[in-house]
Amino acid sequence: MKQNNIYWIMIVLFTVLPILINSLLSDEVSKNHHFIWSLFLIPSILMMSMYPKWSVIISSAVFYSSFKLVIAFFQNPDVDKNAITVLILGSMVNWSIHITIGYFINKSHKLLQLVEELTLVDVLTGINNRRYFNLFLEKTIPNIEKTNSSLIMMTLDIDHFKRINDTYGHSCGDEALKHISNVIRRNVRDTDAYVRIGGEEFAIVMPSTSLEEGGIIAERLRKTVEESSFTYKQEVIQFTISIGLSQYHGEAIEDFINKADKALYQAKENGRNNIVVFV
Ligand code: GH3
Ligand code: MG
Ligand code: MG
Repeated sequence: MKQNNIYWIMIVLFTVLPILINSLLSDEVSKNHHFIWSLFLIPSILMMSMYPKWSVIISSAVFYSSFKLVIAFFQNPDVDKNAITVLILGSMVNWSIHITIGYFINKSHKLLQLVEELTLVDVLTGINNRRYFNLFLEKTIPNIEKTNSSLIMMTLDIDHFKRINDTYGHSCGDEALKHISNVIRRNVRDTDAYVRIGGEEFAIVMPSTSLEEGGIIAERLRKTVEESSFTYKQEVIQFTISIGLSQYHGEAIEDFINKADKALYQAKENGRNNIVVFV
């Protein structure tokens, strides 16, 4: 059974249970057994955990902390002033407890989201990493198969990158990687995914793009990198990239990536600074 369904069953159960127990007890006993209502913390926490937004946290806290107040009025509309004061104060105490718990649930949810986001980002360049790339492909491929549209992948590798590191130093190499990331970012669409696969290799996945369109974008990227330069410690540095291009034809994700990699290898063999399409 799905976790949310179990949560919903528990929410209903622990919302009904205190009401049921209360109705079974005589008025005299019920008056001295307020702790039964503490069970309302359970559905409230479950609700906040499922929907850790402030609107739900506040609504849930208000609902469960004032429930007893409403029931007491229904059971005895002529309740005296002192008892009302006690009930309202009791609700406020409950409300504070619910809100405090909600605050920490909301905070830990945000932290969890941040951690999840960080596991998908490459620390150096700030663009997504290989893990994101695989998740993106797993999500995109079923849509591509359903709509029978074209999916393109390109892998890009900086030519003679080792020379940049050796000549200008490792931090200059790092700047070159950031430079390439920015060039890619400026040349892709919002629907494309672009990542640093590792080292000085990047990959782009382009849904709903034909092989011809992919070739045009690859050429634009290759040319932009060739013609652009970046400055490191007053030194103007230029370099080139090689690109391998492949089209998805129903193979496994790893094979799809391998096809682009093989084309990239061929581009290197052909003398670098060029594009090869896998056939
Ligand atoms: P090719 O044209 O055949 O691709 O040659 P290359 O020199 O680019 O490729 P090679 O695989 O020989 O060298 C890649 C270098 O990339 C070696 C490695 O030290 C460097 N490298 C990998 N990751 C990083 C990084 O995060 N920062 C820097 N500065 N260098 C890195
Ligand atoms: Mg290289
Ligand atoms: Mg490489």
